[in-house]
This record gives sequence, C-alpha cells and structure tokens, in this order.
Amino acid sequence: MSVLNGISVSVGPVLFKAACPDCRSRFELAAGALRLAIGGSRRTTFYSFTCPECGSAVRKPAGERIVELLTGGGVRTLRLHSTV
Ligand SMILES: [Zn+2]
Repeated sequence: MSVLNGISVSVGPVLFKAACPDCRSRFELAAGALRLAIGGSRRTTFYSFTCPECGSAVRKPAGERIVELLTGGGVRTLRLHSTV
C-alpha cells in the first residue's frame, strides 16, 4: 500500500510545458513523451519530443536545470557518454 506511517503521498502526472519551433504551438507534455539525452558536453546534452500538432521532431539543448527538472519528473534519460 502507498500509506506510510499514516501519510499517503499522491504523485500526480508531471507535465512539462513545451513549444514547437516549427508550428509555434504550445502544449504540455507528459514525462513519457519526452526524451533526455545526456552527453559529455553541453552541446550533446539535449531533450527531444515529437510535436503533437505538426508531428515534427524537436530537439532542444538542455541546461543543468532542465536536466534536473526532467530527470526529477521521470523523463527517460539516455546517457550518451559515460564518465568513468
Ligand atoms: Zn509543431
């Protein structure tokens, strides 16, 4: 059960606001609609999604805060470069 010591924690679906550079529409995406790729440098760290309006694949650079936000929200993360 999800009740722990009398306290139940409900986690709602996390939605991320995004905008499409192609058709300029704005929408909210669930964590499952986003992908995050973390590379070895800032240039190779980005998040991507498919625009629900026009269907184009959008890829945007992800800064540290965005990476934190997305990983915290349960977005699937792909590590392109493993640091040893
Ligand atoms: Zn679009």
